Amino acid sequence: MDTPPPITVATRDAAPRNDPGLLGQAVLKVLAHRTRVDAVHALSPHFRLVSLRSDALRRVAHTPGDKVQVRVGGMAFRTFTPLRMGEGDDSLQLLGYAHGDAPAARWLRSVAPGDLCHVLGPRRSMDLAAIDRSTVFVGDETSLGLALALCGTPLGGLDTHFVLEVADAAEVRAVLESMGRGMLQHAWLVERRADGGHLVQVEAALARYAAADSYRQYVLSGQSLTIQRLQRTLRGAGAKASQMLAKAYWAPGKIALD
Ligand SMILES: Cc1cc2nc3c(=O)[nH]c(=O)nc-3n(C[C@H](O)[C@H](O)[C@H](O)COP(=O)(O)OP(=O)(O)OC[C@H]3O[C@@H](n4cnc5c(N)ncnc54)[C@H](O)[C@@H]3O)c2cc1C
Repeated sequence: MDTPPPITVATRDAAPRNDPGLLGQAVLKVLAHRTRVDAVHALSPHFRLVSLRSDALRRVAHTPGDKVQVRVGGMAFRTFTPLRMGEGDDSLQLLGYAHGDAPAARWLRSVAPGDLCHVLGPRRSMDLAAIDRSTVFVGDETSLGLALALCGTPLGGLDTHFVLEVADAAEVRAVLESMGRGMLQHAWLVERRADGGHLVQVEAALARYAAADSYRQYVLSGQSLTIQRLQRTLRGAGAKASQMLAKAYWAPGKIALD
């Protein structure tokens, strides 16, 4: 994986910004792992690759597709998909998409090497290690970490077709070129339209996949309404619930889903 050099931010004193109160600190001590930010790569205007390090991470089990919750300010936590966490590793990486002016976006834009970072998990979310067949992966900007986690499984996303619903295909293409592996580099990027019209061609493609192979696996993540619509399409085309692994990563108007 070729990643650009880290953004140059002076290592600074470790105090977390937006400190929680005494009670919050006591809760964090019991429940969260204290990690240090090791490096931050600005992959594009909206994407940050954040590396976290802690001895505590060596002792936690991790399955590709797991989630972690990161303290992004005060006692606010947001969910990410860790990648490249091998057994005994003391580090993990997050690929975060900073949208708008929300807590995770602000954290992603300001996080710097040396910062303290509280992490809950990893915990189970989608068990990608169990996938043993041709797969169609549909997601969006928030799913790139999951897509990379899939590329890290024994099958390595080799026989996977990646479809990503995105705001800016050129930006995501550049991120995939720096991070992507295997089929992910050839992901089909579909630019989002406010009326949802872009999903018509995705639905047609999914119906073709379902008609051609009744054994195929579908992994759906990203925006809740897109997932619901595509699940309906797949069911209509004959796919069974057991072929679908689906998880909403965000929903319009809702904060901190999951
Ligand atoms: C299991 C799991 C794994 C995840 N993994 C990742 C990951 O690896 N990388 C990653 O970037 N995200 C990931 N997400 C998604 C991320 O947790 C959400 O997008 C989260 O809402 C971001 O927090 P926020 O503070 O930016 O926005 P919030 O405060 O949660 O929400 C504020 C507003 O922003 C909207 N919103 C939230 N996300 C988006 C978006 N992507 N685009 C447009 N509007 C949005 C909400 O609907 C709400 O109206 C994951 C989510 C889950 C459940």
